[in-house]
Amino acid sequence: MNYSKKIDTKGVYDVIVVGSGSAGAAAAIAAARSGARTLLIERLPFLGGISTAVLDTFYGYYTPGNNPRKVVGGIADAVVNGLKGYNACFERPNTFGAGTGITYHPEYLKIVWETLVEEAGCHVLLNAWVQDVVKVGKEIKALVVGTKNGLACYEAKQYIDATGDADIVFLAGYEFELAGAIEPAQTLTTTFKMVNVDIARRKAVTKEAFHHLMQSASESGRYDLPRKEGSDHVTPVDGMTATIMTRLKSYGIIDGQTFNATNPEFLSSAEIRGRLQALEYIRFLQDCVPGYEKAQLASFGVQIGIRETRRVRGEYWLTEADVLSARQFDDQIGLCGAPMEDHHDGEGTKWKYLPDGKTVGIPYRTLIPRNTGNILVAGRCFSASHVAHSSVRSMAQCMAMGEAAGIAAALCAERGISPAALDFAVIRQELLHYGAIIDEL
Ligand SMILES: Cc1cc2nc3c(=O)[nH]c(=O)nc-3n(C[C@H](O)[C@H](O)[C@H](O)COP(=O)(O)OP(=O)(O)OC[C@H]3O[C@@H](n4cnc5c(N)ncnc54)[C@H](O)[C@@H]3O)c2cc1C
Repeated sequence: MNYSKKIDTKGVYDVIVVGSGSAGAAAAIAAARSGARTLLIERLPFLGGISTAVLDTFYGYYTPGNNPRKVVGGIADAVVNGLKGYNACFERPNTFGAGTGITYHPEYLKIVWETLVEEAGCHVLLNAWVQDVVKVGKEIKALVVGTKNGLACYEAKQYIDATGDADIVFLAGYEFELAGAIEPAQTLTTTFKMVNVDIARRKAVTKEAFHHLMQSASESGRYDLPRKEGSDHVTPVDGMTATIMTRLKSYGIIDGQTFNATNPEFLSSAEIRGRLQALEYIRFLQDCVPGYEKAQLASFGVQIGIRETRRVRGEYWLTEADVLSARQFDDQIGLCGAPMEDHHDGEGTKWKYLPDGKTVGIPYRTLIPRNTGNILVAGRCFSASHVAHSSVRSMAQCMAMGEAAGIAAALCAERGISPAALDFAVIRQELLHYGAIIDEL
């Protein structure tokens, strides 16, 4: 079937950011704050992506270990300050040694993201799904966006792909690695929240005892629990816990072709199976875990949690060796001290740590897809191997990447140059001006 229809241009901008997760929302704030006419396009009816639709704890703000050090600033600080204004967050130690986490109320985080984005002067289009790109040579000319009014085109000088799944890179035919094609992809998780939990009784059960209960429940044959070391934690709401417990395989191969959570049929099935699996864990909690006797399901995550799908091939490819050696780069725009956390298909989770208190630098070049003209990426689709990605994908680092990409895109739009041609020293200077932390002490 041939389909062709004229699509009107509805807006022309300096910078368009697609996807409003931790990376995209930060990118939009940074670009608009720098004076660029900026549009943020988001398919959901609220901002925040995984930060508001799936989770409630920021990791990556601090290095793990005995002497925690804060390694992000700038917009990441503004987000936490906004949450503090609603008394909607608190710090808590991480059960797996990933460093101090910041647990927040995601409904307030939606408001915080919206406030910061609007205060920066950014235009926002919610319930709008980018479906295609118009290219001239290697540059993107316009995005084709699906809305309730049908398809519309939006044009910009510079684009930021913060879709998490590198949708724009994919639609434009640029290079990426499909998670699952070379190494096993990280598993999927349907999160859920429980209310009426007796927190004091639950806290009396140690982590080891909790995992032992999960293991024995599974071995009894009465519960189907694929992951035996999932976690629950307290939230800012009294008597409510949030969980990261379920585990679903995220990729496979049919006729030699890798598929993952970017495959619509596979994703539909995973969403449905994820909720059923969550029910099994809820039954286990209610039957077997002290404190959960009278607890009830409050909510599932808005969507299944997807850790990785497409990672772009950028001007630099961050590797496991870079992370483990805490490598520093001349063009780094942020730091990461979070351990590598591989949620693989099996029962456990593989953890590998950087040297105590150290961080790896995040090079600006990991945000520039190679052989392109006017696009940057930010967030979990940045240019890194599967294993390096499992460290640097925490939300604090996504915000740091977003802030750098937003500054860079605004500068490129103003100067009429490509992201690859931009002097990284200028971006680093701007990041420091706005309070970002980009270098080891
Ligand atoms: C189950 C799970 C547990 C995790 N645990 C933690 C944790 O505890 N702490 C932590 O810091 N990190 C955690 N992570 C990692 C972290 O949450 C993610 O790496 C990070 O949130 C990714 O942010 P992002 O902005 O890159 O992408 P996302 O948050 O996925 O944002 C992408 C946005 O783009 C939008 N979008 C996508 N395609 C389109 C399109 N075509 N058109 C318009 N909009 C589009 C989406 O709706 C979404 O809002 C976890 C991840 C998962 C899945």
